[in-house]
Amino acid sequence: MNSMLKHPFSPYYKLRNDIDSMCKTLENIHDRHLNCKIGCDLCCMAISVFPVEFYAIEAELNQDSVRHLQAPKDDSQCRFLVSHRCTIYDSRPVICRTHGLPLLYMSLENDEYELSLCELNFTKFDFEDFDEENTFPMDQFNSRLYLINKKFIAGFENGRYNEQERIPLAELLK
Ligand code: SF4
Repeated sequence: MNSMLKHPFSPYYKLRNDIDSMCKTLENIHDRHLNCKIGCDLCCMAISVFPVEFYAIEAELNQDSVRHLQAPKDDSQCRFLVSHRCTIYDSRPVICRTHGLPLLYMSLENDEYELSLCELNFTKFDFEDFDEENTFPMDQFNSRLYLINKKFIAGFENGRYNEQERIPLAELLK
């Protein structure tokens, strides 16, 4: 039986595992730069995600453990950040899994690659030190996520979502 039929979120969970594995490799490479620790939430903000990601996280979420979460005073803050900790860490969206690493992506104009670095981690660096071996290829994984989502929404509730539609993560609490 097709794995997609067996479990609609299997391709998404596989992608998530691949991302975690790549992030682990990059964490080892950049170990001397990385200061990410519990209490640092500079990367955390209110985000929206593709439907496949939304429903895959919802399927894992223990509603009892998050039901009590208060809405933050600041709308730009993630609903799942409490006392500087992520309350859904194991199920966090893929974008959250890359926090702190050097991210490589194509510019919006599609004419050059851009490197995104955390200013708390990479305080001293030389741009020449970065290449395709030691940066996270955002576009490659975003493309995979886009295609996984495309397949998912095609079979979901009579085409309720279009390909570009995203859902605020905070709606998991509604
Ligand atoms: S889901 Fe977790 S890691 Fe992602 S932005 Fe919210 S608190 Fe931060």
